[in-house]
Amino acid sequence: MDFDTVVMKFGGSSVADPPKIQHVARRLVEAKQRGLRVVGTVSAMGKTTDGLIDLAHQVSPTPNAREFDMLLSTGERIACALVAMAIHDLGQEAISLTGSQAGILTDGAHMKAKIREIRGDRVKDALDEDKIVLVAGFQGFSRDTMDVTTLGRGGTDATAVALAAALGAACEIYSDVPGVFTADPRIVPNARKLHTISYEEMLEMSASGAKVLMLRSVELARNHGVRIHARSTFSDEEGTWVQEGASMEQPIVSAVTHSENDVVFTLSDIPDRPGVAALIFDVVGSAHVNVDTIIQNVVHGNAEMSFSVPTEDVPATNGALESTRAELGDFTIEENHDLGKVSLIGAGMRSHPGVAAKMFRTLADNGINLQMISTSPIKISCMIARSEIPNAVRELHAAFELENEPIHEA
Ligand code: ADP
Ligand code: ASP
Ligand code: MG
Repeated sequence: MDFDTVVMKFGGSSVADPPKIQHVARRLVEAKQRGLRVVGTVSAMGKTTDGLIDLAHQVSPTPNAREFDMLLSTGERIACALVAMAIHDLGQEAISLTGSQAGILTDGAHMKAKIREIRGDRVKDALDEDKIVLVAGFQGFSRDTMDVTTLGRGGTDATAVALAAALGAACEIYSDVPGVFTADPRIVPNARKLHTISYEEMLEMSASGAKVLMLRSVELARNHGVRIHARSTFSDEEGTWVQEGASMEQPIVSAVTHSENDVVFTLSDIPDRPGVAALIFDVVGSAHVNVDTIIQNVVHGNAEMSFSVPTEDVPATNGALESTRAELGDFTIEENHDLGKVSLIGAGMRSHPGVAAKMFRTLADNGINLQMISTSPIKISCMIARSEIPNAVRELHAAFELENEPIHEA
């Protein structure tokens, strides 16, 4: 399908310094000169968001959520305004807009707001006036609270997909890697770039740590049928197409992913009766925490439960757990920050038993102990010592020969 509008998203490393900002401006202008209506959305420069988070914590140990979002949203505004300036210098008209000016309406959940709707009138009007429109990524506005919200780490990917869906535009996500690879190319130098990947597999990859595309952006893309082209800011080569379905015959294993961003909670001496797990995951879920792997055992009549959550959700998890003490009594809570997760993803796993055994054997042969295991029809994840993650990723990539092109993709 041919589009007359394109949404081009550039991540933090692509706008890290003034020359890179000028480069991004040139890429946007080139697209305009090819006759397209161009919307750019950019992340904060380099590690700006990390710096702002650090600053907030230096001022306040538990920053107020509304003010935290007011603070974090400034990073993207800075980058956007600078790109617009650089475009003016190239002789094109451009206008930068905050998320709220661009009509990105979200729910009120600070730091992980969900986009509900885009009222893109201002964006469309500016496009009609022949301008390149820059929308600050990662942020929106809640009609319920009348406050600025942010979309969660990596959220500019979601801004891009939602804008593409609202405008009926092509969606190009530019970053410092030329696409989606069979493993993080920083860890596996001979990882292979995938030509295409299904939404289904990309969802599992993003959920298990491949931060090249934010999970929510892939969900939005699947729900709205937006085909994502993930590609490099610094070259013209074709990247990876994230789209419906894939090839006729899917490889058994498509990629190895990893995450070093999980903390495992172990709750001991909780009562072993119906409704306990429901209560715990009810309160944790209400605190907007995304729980991953869960294990429960019964030891001497009491239950022990372990589950993993993203590091940023640790304070919310503790708060939620403490609130159950009136009902569950004096159970103990332990946190383990020394584990990480390595996962195999592949739509072909459904019909091929034996992948798990080969994965466990490969890890065992390398002296790597498994702490927790979880599976879905197209994913197997193991929690292992965090220090072993790079080695595990490399060994699994080699064992499943992911560097070789599958025959049917040729
Ligand atoms: P941006 O700042 O442009 O949003 P990110 O840092 O969020 O970029 O995502 C790009 C990074 O994702 C790459 O630098 C790479 O290290 C990492 N990454 C992890 N897994 C993969 C993968 N399977 N394919 C490509 N990149 C990956
Ligand atoms: N700047 C935000 C972050 O670092 C959002 C993004 O990069 O898309 O998470
Ligand atoms: Mg990102």
